[in-house]
Amino acid sequence: MWRHMLALAVALTALLCGCNGADENDDNGGVKPEKPARNVILLIGDGMGVGQVTLGRLAGPGVHEGLGLEKTPYVGLVKTYATGALVTDSAAAGTAFATGRKTTNGTIGMSPDGNDLENLAEWCRKNGKSVGLVTTTTVTHATPACFAVHCSERKRESEIAELYLGSGVEVLMGGGLRYFPDSLQKQFRNRGYSFALDRQEMMKSREPHLIGLFSPSHMDFEIDRDPTVQPSLEEMALKALQVLDEDKDGFFLLVEGGRIDHACHGHDAGTMVRDVAAFDLAVRAAVAFAERDGNTLVLVTADHACGGLAITEKVSVERLRAQKASAEKMARFVNDGKQDLAAVLREWSGAEPDEDTVKQIRGLEDISAVPYGLQNAIAHVLSERAGVGWHPLHIQATHLVTKGHDGADVSLYAWGPRAGDFTGVLENTEVGVRIRRAMEKPR
Ligand SMILES: [Zn+2]
Repeated sequence: MWRHMLALAVALTALLCGCNGADENDDNGGVKPEKPARNVILLIGDGMGVGQVTLGRLAGPGVHEGLGLEKTPYVGLVKTYATGALVTDSAAAGTAFATGRKTTNGTIGMSPDGNDLENLAEWCRKNGKSVGLVTTTTVTHATPACFAVHCSERKRESEIAELYLGSGVEVLMGGGLRYFPDSLQKQFRNRGYSFALDRQEMMKSREPHLIGLFSPSHMDFEIDRDPTVQPSLEEMALKALQVLDEDKDGFFLLVEGGRIDHACHGHDAGTMVRDVAAFDLAVRAAVAFAERDGNTLVLVTADHACGGLAITEKVSVERLRAQKASAEKMARFVNDGKQDLAAVLREWSGAEPDEDTVKQIRGLEDISAVPYGLQNAIAHVLSERAGVGWHPLHIQATHLVTKGHDGADVSLYAWGPRAGDFTGVLENTEVGVRIRRAMEKPR
């Protein structure tokens, strides 16, 4: 009721003063500024360039239906380069979103000369808001880490796990149990955190400070995930929203589809589209929350594209959909000596392998980028059979820093209060700046 009265009062004020509620200093192309967003949900598809979105659409809901993220009122493009590199990694890109500043590849939340940059978790703490970080990679991986800690080297994941102790984040969920030994878990418990180590424990939890670690390393690709053990990205996002929504001052939630990037490094189109579909379910859940809530800005974007993905005229949605396991899993079966390559392909690739396929895979294995090897060769050939192209393997093997990232711009989709501020061609740093601006109360 009071909401209706408030709306009426605002309308009357606008009528009486003859203004339309627009800020006179509005320099945003005439887009009407709105109330600030109490909450922001930022969903990042790691490695999810425009090609990945399109292929996810084709193999998922289909060319006409479209992904949930497409049903957006506002779209922008994001320039992704890092300091000193036209092709970014997730650390420099995550730092740009989280701090509003460019940095060098490999650096988490610090300037190129080693100074800490204020990240979104710190900004939220100053402004009384809660923070949640949810991913399908290790929680200590570059993207989530950038939002809450500072570290000069992304590879130091054990150190990043310890740094989370002082970060004050309310929710942290994903993989990476191996970076949280018992002694460290004890320190987190002493600070009021509880741990969930499988889907059921997460679902049951009613704790206000929750760490969910569902795999020793990264969580499984969606195509391989056992849903009784590991929650989906959507389920983790919904749990995080349940916890964070208790904070009446608002929250910032990062939801990362982190393994889209890994499938693309591995040239595994059949696996990638499944991870895009799982990411899109999390997007739909976030938008549904925002529509009910009315005070939540939802942003969907990527840190960079990956793999040089090409959708050719020969693309076969049926082949992509028929794949039943990731190439990572297929290669593991072969390398463990459980089955030979032809038998593995017969059981899991979704197509009867001919002799040429097996030969082609074995021929490519040696030129694949370390550490992908057989996995990369299987995926590359299956993708090719499904009409999906990638960087040539011998070229990817020379990408020593990012191992196959792509310097192209990425898309940005926005809903909710201040969503109109996220259109046009933006620097990735500007996205970070505008997230803060969206949550700021008018002065
Ligand atoms: Zn990557």
